[in-house]
Amino acid sequence: MNFQQEADIIRSLGKIAANGHLHKGFKPVHWCSDCGSALAEAEVEYRDKDSFAIDVRFEVLDEEALFARCHAIPNGHGEGPLSVVIWTTTPWTLPANQAVAFNPELEYAVVQTEAPHQKERLIVAEGLLKETMDRWGIEHHRVIAYGRGDAFERLKLQHPFYDRQVPIILGEHVTLDAGTGAVHTAPGHGLDDYIVGQRYDIPVDNPVGGNGCFVEGTPMFEGQHVFSANEKVIDVLKSRGKLVQEARLNHSYPCCWRHKTPIIFRATPQWFIGMETNGLRQSALREINQVKWMPDWGKARIQGMVENRPDWCISRQRTWGVPITLFIHKASEVAKKVEEKGIEAWFELEASGSICHHHPASRSKHRRVGCSRDAIQVRRIRASRRRPRQRV
Ligand SMILES: [Zn+2]
Repeated sequence: MNFQQEADIIRSLGKIAANGHLHKGFKPVHWCSDCGSALAEAEVEYRDKDSFAIDVRFEVLDEEALFARCHAIPNGHGEGPLSVVIWTTTPWTLPANQAVAFNPELEYAVVQTEAPHQKERLIVAEGLLKETMDRWGIEHHRVIAYGRGDAFERLKLQHPFYDRQVPIILGEHVTLDAGTGAVHTAPGHGLDDYIVGQRYDIPVDNPVGGNGCFVEGTPMFEGQHVFSANEKVIDVLKSRGKLVQEARLNHSYPCCWRHKTPIIFRATPQWFIGMETNGLRQSALREINQVKWMPDWGKARIQGMVENRPDWCISRQRTWGVPITLFIHKASEVAKKVEEKGIEAWFELEASGSICHHHPASRSKHRRVGCSRDAIQVRRIRASRRRPRQRV
């Protein structure tokens, strides 16, 4: 890239920061484990992929509390274990499960199954009752209670293989399009999950490293690559009697446009441009109309992205490209040093060559700062057809 262009990128980033649009966040982003980097929406393409599709039991911990919240209970509470059933095409995300989401306005049914040796009670959305029972081959069943989604808020369920209680939470993103109407929620691995999880202050757990493998200390799955861990997760579910059904599904799945390999959503600390702060989305849309576009299809593509995108992740974990030329406020580290050595530590820092910088967004002067190691993503527009986003 020529020097002028590189310098202009840095100046633009400076303006973005000065206008208060830039922030560091810990959110799930598209991640290619072959690149070892976050990817922009424009670097993602959709390809057909065979995935596992599994239905999993999350046992209800307090049966009485659940029935107390139901509004129609004709004849007793039935018999056998009582579970909410979720459906997922990403079994490897279950170690990061922190909740199960219901739609607040949907009706849910508690279904008594009548198989002679396996009586149990399963909770699914009423609108998917017939479909799920057909799918699971359960011929004989009857509904023993109904309840609205919002009545079950914060009831506790048992994680299917970890010693972890997870709450039922509410989200409008839960629909009757597929599955059971109860959505497995892993805020570290999905944007909808992250957003709804924030409302409930649910941990953003990301047990997956940049190489796509479970990090040290992840019980049962440590060191395994997420895609090869799918079968192990299914084995664990089977051995614990938590798997209702396992199937294969061929669907459109996001892939890295460089490697053509499936990508994942993974929460990492990244730099973001906040699209809603200080009217950035609206002003960007206005400016798009002022630009002469070559080729002209670039306009519609960028317009669609700016209209719909969440906060814009600009970090890339690569050594090439234009670095994010930021100095990061390190006050808490300075405080730690001062705690150890007294205020003299401040002057020692200066002697060791730390940079003194007055950040434009900051009111206080002469803060100690460190340097960001991230590189900035320069937009690359391609003419790929946009497909509906899905959780991976
Ligand atoms: Zn890649």
